[in-house]
Amino acid sequence: MKFDPSNAIQDNLAFGEFGGVNPSITDSATYTFLSQERMEQMFDHEVKGCFLYSRHWNPSDRYLATALAKMEDSEDGLVTASGMSAISCAILQICSSGDEMISGRTVYGGTYALFKNFLPKLGINVNFIDITDLDVVERSITDKTKLIYCEGLSNPLLEVADIPKLRKIADKYNLKLIVDNTFSPMLLSPIRLGAHVVVHSLTKFINGTNDCVAGCICSSKDFINQLTDIHSGASMLLGPVLDSYRAASILKNLHTLHIRMQKHSENALYVAGQFEQLGFKTFYPGLKSHRQHELLKKLYNPKYGFGGMMAVDFKKIETAKQIVATMQKAKVGYLAVSLGFYKTLFSMPSHSTSSEIPEKEQKTMGLTEGLVRFSVGIDHDIERSFDRIKKSLKKLNMI
Ligand code: PLP
Repeated sequence: MKFDPSNAIQDNLAFGEFGGVNPSITDSATYTFLSQERMEQMFDHEVKGCFLYSRHWNPSDRYLATALAKMEDSEDGLVTASGMSAISCAILQICSSGDEMISGRTVYGGTYALFKNFLPKLGINVNFIDITDLDVVERSITDKTKLIYCEGLSNPLLEVADIPKLRKIADKYNLKLIVDNTFSPMLLSPIRLGAHVVVHSLTKFINGTNDCVAGCICSSKDFINQLTDIHSGASMLLGPVLDSYRAASILKNLHTLHIRMQKHSENALYVAGQFEQLGFKTFYPGLKSHRQHELLKKLYNPKYGFGGMMAVDFKKIETAKQIVATMQKAKVGYLAVSLGFYKTLFSMPSHSTSSEIPEKEQKTMGLTEGLVRFSVGIDHDIERSFDRIKKSLKKLNMI
């Protein structure tokens, strides 16, 4: 039978301690052992699967990690306190001082800053390239390269990574392929397409309620064991543990993700199509005009559409500033960073989430000052919402 991420989550039944339909929340930082000998066996890797200390593993995090691994069809998963800690732990587990990595240049600004400003301090150098140009990818590999990093759908320009082809290149040079799937949960299944490691900011679509920050890593059992190794694991030793209460609340929200993703995608397709019809340069991979529309159609799980993220180029920063303020007043949504919320959020990446990327590089990648990124919400009546956008555009004499 064909793999479906939401069926995989639904079939993963977890019972609470007292038979509750939701697993019980564990409220302990540390766990008891019957004897000192047994505890020592755990430190000596002779015992696996029992709980020692919450930074290593705790039952609530385990439930959420297992459900996310089911969704991504990976052997195992790990949850972390943020998307950034998921990214940094995955990379630091693979790369050491003297190594290099390749990264798509249109990645989230925080990721860009980590790669550009922080990793070099640890002796890890990052080569930023156009990940959609496979010749450039291959030409950028040196004998020091350890991994290729990209976003499945990139932030904010919605470029599509050709994951199966990137995996072929990774195999040829014995590299690991890490894909950030934050923009495209359910609609892309990167592990099935060839990624070795998938990372998410759970803060976004997966949680969907914008009430916490969290992340995850999905990969092979072996890689998750490496990350949580008591003596050498990046997540165990750097310590970005997700609080049990948050893990439990995110798990509950995960069970509605499939419905939310369908609605986000349906609404974004409508809004992007309307903007395009009005003559605005619109970036949305569900539009035929998107240069990688056909590629995404080959890679995606069609039930979940083309995702909830889109961008419109208003060219000038002043115009963009006016339109976001007017849309907020007209109750279209909020002027805010982040994404994947049930309400529409809009922001100007060049002056917010992508501001870490130098201006010259923003220009090369096609990120203009007047670009407005939309995370389209799950509005019940999206035509009514677009009427408000149209009124805002009229008010500013833009149509
Ligand atoms: N990856 C992407 C694509 C993002 O947009 C973000 C945050 O905006 C992150 C990772 C970082 O996640 P977090 O804010 O949960 O640390």
